[in-house]
Amino acid sequence: MSSKAEEKAKTTAKLFASGLDEIFPNPSCELDYKSAYELLVAVILSAQCTDKRVNIVTKELFKEYNTPQKMLTLGQEQLEEKIHSCGFYHNKAKNILSMSRDLLKRFGGEVPSNQEDLVSLAGVGRKTANVVLGEHFKKDAIAVDTHVLRVSNRLGFAKTDNPLKCERALNNLFEKKDWSKIHLQMVLFGRYICKSQSPQCDRCKFYNICQSKDKKKLLDFAD
Ligand code: SF4
Repeated sequence: MSSKAEEKAKTTAKLFASGLDEIFPNPSCELDYKSAYELLVAVILSAQCTDKRVNIVTKELFKEYNTPQKMLTLGQEQLEEKIHSCGFYHNKAKNILSMSRDLLKRFGGEVPSNQEDLVSLAGVGRKTANVVLGEHFKKDAIAVDTHVLRVSNRLGFAKTDNPLKCERALNNLFEKKDWSKIHLQMVLFGRYICKSQSPQCDRCKFYNICQSKDKKKLLDFAD
């Protein structure tokens, strides 16, 4: 990006950040959890699944299986049954059990609070690690999920399908102290306004700065 383009992107990012503060002044994670371990499990379950569905499943699951030790008393098949409705249950169960084994073996059963150790856990990728870091450990991190990636591209903050490149671009545009908040706000904005299939462009306060070719024309202004 040229320095002029970068300056423009930073100005747009500032407008976007202050607009998001108006729409979502106190953003919060929509996954229910009571510990870092529960959050880690919930984030693994949330891949390709709604937070609402995950919360229904974890409400039952965590009644008895809310620590790595307890989770490992379940075998692959038993866990698959319990998380079946979240989809991709075979891999998710495998990852949750491997991650739990790893936690006990290498971290005394505690969820580590740094990215390097988190991503070294079986089944934990960078996005999952960043959610846990930002949400539970209150560290500065932008987790790039499908909503953040889509919104970033539509607004022109990134032009990539690669989550890591997108994360780097966002890190460069937004103040570090705001990273975790921006992540939550972008997820909510993508989930409820800038939706994948039917973005609500007619009620979007970022219409004028949005660079998306897919944005819907504002019919009210057509005449
Ligand atoms: S104008 Fe439409 S596509 Fe652009 S950010 Fe707003 S909702 Fe998304």
